[in-house]
This record gives sequence, structure tokens and C-alpha cells, in this order.
Amino acid sequence: MPDRRQPSTREARTKNGFAPKICQACKRPMEWRKAWAANWDSVKYCSEKCRRA
Ligand SMILES: [Zn+2]
Repeated sequence: MPDRRQPSTREARTKNGFAPKICQACKRPMEWRKAWAANWDSVKYCSEKCRRA
């Protein structure tokens, strides 16, 4: 799997069949969360903080 990133960067993983997304605000990968199960398609930010940024 040719996925070259900085070794220190923690890899976001596919959870429950949902691939990670990149937060629109901080550009960091965010993993699927159970709390987002209902609206994962519309989730764009990793946190409320980013949503308001
Ligand atoms: Zn974010």
C-alpha cells in the first residue's frame, strides 16, 4: 500500500465500514464516530470548534 506520510502522523482508519474524512477546517483526518452515524454524509468538520471557524 503506497501511502507515504510522516511516520509520526497517526493514520485515520476506516471504522465500521466508513472511510475517514478530512476536516474542512483543520485538514486533519477524522474517523467515523458512532455519534455521526446518522449524518456522516454531511459531516464536514471534526469538531464544533472547526465548524465555527
Ligand atoms: Zn477540524
